Amino acid sequence: MLLYAAGMLRTSPWSVLYALALLAAASLGACGTNPTRGNASTQAPAPKATWALALHGGAGTLDKDADPALLKAYEAALASALRTGTTILSQGGSALAACEAVVRELEDNELFNAGRGAAINEQGVVELDAAIMDGSTEHYGAVTGVTTVRNPVSLARTLMQQQRFRMLAGQGAEAFANDYPVLQRVPNAWFITPRRLRMLQDELASRTSRSHAASVQSTAPSRLGTVGCVALDSAGNLAAATSTGGITGKPAGRVGDAPLIGSGTLATRLVAISCTGSGEQFIRVGAARVLAQRIELLGESVHEAASHVIFEKLAKDDGGLIALSADGSIAMPYSTTGMYRAWAREQSNGSVQSGVAIFEESTP
Ligand code: ASP
Repeated sequence: MLLYAAGMLRTSPWSVLYALALLAAASLGACGTNPTRGNASTQAPAPKATWALALHGGAGTLDKDADPALLKAYEAALASALRTGTTILSQGGSALAACEAVVRELEDNELFNAGRGAAINEQGVVELDAAIMDGSTEHYGAVTGVTTVRNPVSLARTLMQQQRFRMLAGQGAEAFANDYPVLQRVPNAWFITPRRLRMLQDELASRTSRSHAASVQSTAPSRLGTVGCVALDSAGNLAAATSTGGITGKPAGRVGDAPLIGSGTLATRLVAISCTGSGEQFIRVGAARVLAQRIELLGESVHEAASHVIFEKLAKDDGGLIALSADGSIAMPYSTTGMYRAWAREQSNGSVQSGVAIFEESTP
């Protein structure tokens, strides 16, 4: 596994008391001892990182026996995006800049369900959602239902920096983009790839053999995806970004968790989080906010809090997340077959650890 332990976070006496009350009220049990759940108690504390970064390309992965060439292509894409982010951070760039650059690269790579190659809705249109958040200021930008902006994460960042309004949908987001020529525009058909078209056709065909409701609730891997990044820069700031086409065959106007701050994306001074999976469930749980509050109020490690959300609050196959705490500890739990993911961190002694993985056994 890619998980390693967080140091204990500093908490005030009041938060400790509040935490004890919460623990009693909720009868919270310790996380399981299964190391796949990232149980921090079995792991040595990691030394503080100078900078760190984690990224994901979605929890709805290929099967382990998929075409090895395709799996290799995914690994190469993850490694390339990792290099993009770590180059920025190692040169003193900001966590926000690293997150935007990583997500832009993944949006442009048609292997992933974001930007070009994103999931297509049941009307044959690509509608994109994205969010970005700066943990140091807690400013964020979020867009949903975007149809012509090549890199929705950059639209979200522009919105964050230019507007006091932080979230725009559909036509409003498109109109806002018109004021920023730097945001490249493309026809909606540019996002559509033959592979995603086949997935939509399969999805629509399968609806004749099962109820529409069952179909929309299905979390079969081919329906999911999403890309995301969390980063800690050498100034100690955290950031998070997530971008997605949502779920194949979704109805027009459907909004997932990715652009919803506190559900699929969140960055505070303590932790940065990006989620992937069945958006309806991550929204129901308020996944990212629950994770952050368990760290802040209960003093849990990022591993304990992330494991709780994925394995206790959410159901098997709902998805996964990446979470990075202010000391550089990274948790990447998932309850699906796999999750496309990569991470790197520089320790205070200058050594850099990194890895790329899809399945459990692909541990670096
Ligand atoms: N969470 C995304 C959504 O529901 C999909 C995914 O991550 O696969 O829109």
